[in-house]
Amino acid sequence: MRFSVLTVYPELFNILDYSIVGKALQNKKFEVQIVNIRDFSKDKHSKTDDAPFGGGAGMVMTPQPIVSAIRAVDGERKAKRVYLSPKGKTLNQDLVCELAKAEELLLLCGSFEGVDQRALDLEIDEEISIGDYVLTSGELPALVLINAVSRYIDGVLGSEHSTDEESFSDGLLEYPHYTRPASFESVEVPPVLLSGNHAEIATWRKEQSLKITRERRPDLLENQKNNKSNKAK
Ligand code: SAM
Repeated sequence: MRFSVLTVYPELFNILDYSIVGKALQNKKFEVQIVNIRDFSKDKHSKTDDAPFGGGAGMVMTPQPIVSAIRAVDGERKAKRVYLSPKGKTLNQDLVCELAKAEELLLLCGSFEGVDQRALDLEIDEEISIGDYVLTSGELPALVLINAVSRYIDGVLGSEHSTDEESFSDGLLEYPHYTRPASFESVEVPPVLLSGNHAEIATWRKEQSLKITRERRPDLLENQKNNKSNKAK
């Protein structure tokens, strides 16, 4: 899989060199191409923003450098083209899994007040938000998306970690984890986890998952119920 990221702050993506993602990139499990939108500006000062028509606060990213950059990177329109935007569809695990099926994702990071609407209408397939709050620019949202999606690419997490049993994988939050020591500051690990009885451990974990989800995210249980009854229809 290949991500192409269009940004005016390419240095912010140096963070991709670290942790499991950095290792996977080094091992060529997927690719990330960082494209500086400024390099495509035809303005003599390489400007990428201007004042909004109609007035108002802040600057707007001009369409020319963005459209030129997108066409240079994805001339054959092979990539799914995403603009990170607070106005977009909210990213969740289902959307992450869907995006992970794409061969190529092009991610456009906005800055200032956002992007001239014509660039979006001409070139973008989908707008995605990482939550109901506004950040200063789209680079952190793009990094969040790359991180979440890359975990579903073969070979990124390694065999010791799986996405099957974690929060959201079956519509529930994950059960709690414990490791050594068995007693810490007089708090004991739940005895079932030391029992060696795999069936009982699985049952306990499922119960804990349900309990935590009921307490913290009853909406997830409600969604699960609705999905099941929709499938049955
Ligand atoms: N004026 C815009 C609005 O009110 O919807 C906000 C622009 S924001 C200051 C600048 C850029 O940050 C956006 O173009 C977008 O790329 C990015 N951004 C901010 N919040 C985001 C979010 N929650 N999800 C995804 N991208 C976001």
